[in-house]
Amino acid sequence: MAPPDSPALVVAAVAAEAVAADTDLALLAYGDVVAGCTRCALAQTRTQVVFGVGSPSADLMFVGEAPGFHEDKQGIPFVGAAGQLLTKLLAGIGIARDDVYIANVLKCRPPGNRDPQPDEIEACESHLFKQIELIQPKVVATLGNFATKLLSGKPAGITRVHGQEQEMTLGGQSVLLYPLFHPAAALYTPRMLEVLEQDFARLPNLLGEKTVAPVLEEEETAQPIQLGLF
Ligand code: URA
Repeated sequence: MAPPDSPALVVAAVAAEAVAADTDLALLAYGDVVAGCTRCALAQTRTQVVFGVGSPSADLMFVGEAPGFHEDKQGIPFVGAAGQLLTKLLAGIGIARDDVYIANVLKCRPPGNRDPQPDEIEACESHLFKQIELIQPKVVATLGNFATKLLSGKPAGITRVHGQEQEMTLGGQSVLLYPLFHPAAALYTPRMLEVLEQDFARLPNLLGEKTVAPVLEEEETAQPIQLGLF
């Protein structure tokens, strides 16, 4: 028979469960709010808001571009051909789709799957930041240019930065941002698929390496004031 857990461990486990339950509820409640979002014109053409799917306590979160035809109909991100490839790539590194969280930069489908417009991204981005804040993933893998540029805050494109992780503060906590090619692009370009598979293969190590460090409040991190010469 296994030895009984120490009281401290039992308390920690109960506290962790309570936090997880709180996150589930908070994410559900936020999803309900976003379901009625009318911040941009896409509200008029969407079938429904596609908020996100997966584990609210995921260590690994994927951020794509925007819902397409199938996602708009089903209300779930990455359910079309690109989504099937994403699920397969995850299985290839031993991770189940249910254990990650998947969201998009835009929560509503742009008509005809056109590119997201700057005003749409601006209107929608706080939904994504709130999701990151609630889920507190260790690694945020951005799929393609739109998610990478938004979350890195830099203009460098995915061809240049894919596979290069960087420590960032997102949603008020330290995460590893890990840019990847978009699976939709890899569907039709074998060389890109190869690179995507190679970049995916590093994910288990990145997840293992990343320890969750709380982000210190501004005053705690503030550098001591340097006395100037003048
Ligand atoms: N499906 C999504 O949900 N997002 C994409 O970026 C592409 C397909």
